[in-house]
Amino acid sequence: MNSKLIIHLTKLDNNLDAVDRRLNLGVQRMAVVKDNAYGHGVIPIANHIKERVEWFCVARTNEGKQLREAGITNPILVFEAPTHETAGILKDFNLTATLAEIDSLNVLKAGTKYQINIDTGMHRLGVLPEQVSDLSESILKYQDLTCTGIYTHYFKSDDPGNPEVKTQLELFKEIRAQFPSEWLTHTANTGGIFHYKDLNLQFDAVRPGVCLYGYGAGEVEVEELKPILDWKSFLMQVKKVKKGESVSYGGKWIAPTDGNIGIIPAGYGDGIPRLLTNSIKCKIGEKLYEQVGVISMDYTMIFLGTDSYEKGTEVFFLKGDELTAKTWAISAQTIPYEITTSIKEGVPKEYV
Ligand SMILES: *Cc1c(COP(=O)(O)O)cnc(C)c1O
Repeated sequence: MNSKLIIHLTKLDNNLDAVDRRLNLGVQRMAVVKDNAYGHGVIPIANHIKERVEWFCVARTNEGKQLREAGITNPILVFEAPTHETAGILKDFNLTATLAEIDSLNVLKAGTKYQINIDTGMHRLGVLPEQVSDLSESILKYQDLTCTGIYTHYFKSDDPGNPEVKTQLELFKEIRAQFPSEWLTHTANTGGIFHYKDLNLQFDAVRPGVCLYGYGAGEVEVEELKPILDWKSFLMQVKKVKKGESVSYGGKWIAPTDGNIGIIPAGYGDGIPRLLTNSIKCKIGEKLYEQVGVISMDYTMIFLGTDSYEKGTEVFFLKGDELTAKTWAISAQTIPYEITTSIKEGVPKEYV
């Protein structure tokens, strides 16, 4: 084992507490655990929170099946549109499908439950407003399918105070009013929960995703959220480098002084973005060291200066509130979502 993820379940609880504090009375939680719980390992995460959340949401039908096979009994909403391949799985594993286009009514198997996704501006999945009257007529013809909910998704809720959110919400409310009032209604993701409480967009349920793992949506930090993931490895070798010598492919880093290089046996093959070369820090004990030289497939180097350590000394790539996927995301011009989902599934995980 060359590196390991340490996932702090108490911090997951803390993040769920932060969500709970924002919720109006009676609002249900639909925990979004798609893509292997954003890279954190879906089964242990789901098992840990299954009694605290009413629903789980996944992107793919097979992710829903995986949760069922692991014994999860909460209702599960699948975001993707059903196909002839997935319709049987949706039915057999009692998963709630998403109706994102009217044609899906022909695909779903008798007895399947579904919820309608309305596209109010994201222009990804969802039924367009102009198709809603056709939709209302069509669903009546499929009495052997049961609609249990209706939802939409915001495209700018990561940005506090963005007027597009309100525009989408107003459009959604208009459409919502044309359907039975008992359907479960939900719109808010992390941004909606933390940045838009005043808009009254919680309805019956919210769909928290990235906040569970400890990151706010967008640039504005949410103090209470704690990244649940640490990523640790060890020094496989410590070797001397002389002032003026370069380290790793292409000689992209030149030692400013004589000193020690620490070699860590994890690289972009494990999911550390190569784009982070020369821009991150690693932690040994309480001390931070600069990552130096091009990150290679299986190795990453740090400059220890005059410090020296035993082979096997623990090194952290990510740790607590200081070394986070958010810091990496800023350096790699992406979002924490992509950093954590890029960690290879083969990296072992320990839950504490
Ligand atoms: C991913 C996703 C969410 C969760 O979004 P976060 O920003 O991670 O909270 C909610 N709803 C839908 C439809 C999604 O695709």
